[in-house]
Amino acid sequence: MSGPPATPTPTPIPVFDDNYVWAVHDGRQALVVDPGQAGPVAHWLQTHGLALAAILITHHHDDHIGGLAALRRRWPQALAWGPADERIADLNHVVGEGDTVQVAAPALAFQVLAVPGHTRSHLAFHGHGLLFSGDTLFSAGCGRLFEGTPAQMLASLQRLAALPGDTLVCCGHEYTLGNCRFALAVEPGNATLQDHARQVRQWREQDRPSLPSRIDLERAINPFLRVEQPAIGQWLAAHAGLANDADPVAAFAALRAAKDSFRG
Ligand code: ZN
Ligand code: FE
Repeated sequence: MSGPPATPTPTPIPVFDDNYVWAVHDGRQALVVDPGQAGPVAHWLQTHGLALAAILITHHHDDHIGGLAALRRRWPQALAWGPADERIADLNHVVGEGDTVQVAAPALAFQVLAVPGHTRSHLAFHGHGLLFSGDTLFSAGCGRLFEGTPAQMLASLQRLAALPGDTLVCCGHEYTLGNCRFALAVEPGNATLQDHARQVRQWREQDRPSLPSRIDLERAINPFLRVEQPAIGQWLAAHAGLANDADPVAAFAALRAAKDSFRG
């Protein structure tokens, strides 16, 4: 008897100061997401006796693709999927909205979502109860708007927030502590956020990752998914000059701008 396949355990491999390369494996072959650096990923694979079989790329920034070429030289059988973007070399499969990434081993399939905002070609991958959200959705925060409009980013975030609540959020950076600081400034009365911020502080003091998060937790604590909450509207009215009848896109834009200049 076999029930529905369990959610595979995603492992965050730390690279640079605060990036995570996410890895999933079946005991022999591994898939990694956004290998910004090859060395720590190769070391982790070797330590666990794994071969690299698949690579997913969410967006073109160097801290997400910097290790791609070296890993592919080392594991020439590994296949790489990512967005249509001339700034990304070394892909085998260009994918976009509505496509499925099908990996033979480890046996995994992911739906591709186009989530523009941080960059114009940013993708997210969803499957097996996992979401690889790159620099679009962070825990308690979201990516900066480098190439997209607030309307695009808000729509992208709302699509991710609509995924099943128990989906594990595997994002590109360990920014949770700083994000919680801003979130608490904006929504100080949010008890779930207060509790989670305390938990994250403890994890980080013990040098443990704050991730993966979950979609239902993000809906409860992430101010960028909560721009229609009255408390957040009031904070934006008081601190960002937002009109009381502002639409969600204007509220999101004001919130993102406030985060950009926040010194917590
Ligand atoms: Zn980025
Ligand atoms: Fe990044």
